[in-house]
Amino acid sequence: MKRVGAHVSAAGGVENAPLNAQAIGARAFAFFTRNQRQWRSKPLSAKNIEAFKANLEKVGIEPRHVLPHDSYLINLGHPEKAGLEKSRAAFLDEMQRCEQLGLELLNFHPGSHLGKISEEECLARVADSINWALERTEGVTAVIENTAGQGSNVGYRFEHLAAIIEQVEDQSRVGVCLDTCHTFTAGYDLRTAEACEATFAEFHQVVGFDYLRGMHLNDSKPDLGSRVDRHESLGRGKLGWEPFRYIMNDPRFEEIPMVLETVNPDLWPKEIRALYELQS
Ligand SMILES: [Zn+2]
Ligand SMILES: [Zn+2]
Repeated sequence: MKRVGAHVSAAGGVENAPLNAQAIGARAFAFFTRNQRQWRSKPLSAKNIEAFKANLEKVGIEPRHVLPHDSYLINLGHPEKAGLEKSRAAFLDEMQRCEQLGLELLNFHPGSHLGKISEEECLARVADSINWALERTEGVTAVIENTAGQGSNVGYRFEHLAAIIEQVEDQSRVGVCLDTCHTFTAGYDLRTAEACEATFAEFHQVVGFDYLRGMHLNDSKPDLGSRVDRHESLGRGKLGWEPFRYIMNDPRFEEIPMVLETVNPDLWPKEIRALYELQS
């Protein structure tokens, strides 16, 4: 079965996220387990944790279909010691929050070299950071998201994802999330079934579908290869509906969270319904 949802709000407490997912007809969802724009966040209370688990069960969504997203401040490939240490500590906190909530995945953007180290060195640092965090946690998989390659972000080539995975010690706890907008603006075409066939074949050859733990379903404002990260509502950008028709009918995308991060939350219920209707 396909598991489509959106990145929902957790305002007022993490326990609200499952309810917000249910309200839009989602079978999967993403959310932030803490304020994504601050380094410090107060710990989850026992009450938050209990209510989250109860609500998740109530709405009938399984932990493996929930894909929490980490803070945008974290850079696991940071070129400088202080920035790297701060990022690792915050990432560990995020992993521990997932553990506390009984969740299995944590989605993050790999990192940025900030023009101070090579891409290769940056990718090695990201892998070291993952190793460091996995040693200190249990049961949570680190899910690397591919990027558009904006600025000095790494992760825009499938080879980057493979290079990180290769250097992770416990490969049973590392995975990837493909964002359709990022994939496209990074230079991989998805606009036709043939283009999807070729792009996902390349993904399988370089990384492997075994590592695919989630998808972000976004149309794209910028064009193919622009290296710019700007999402658009489904069908209203440069991608159109074809990639989503392809994904919704391909068994390789079953039973993983597929999450909308499109620009207008008011459209999410409609977009989710439209995606399911693409199934033939
Ligand atoms: Zn994304
Ligand atoms: Zn994005």
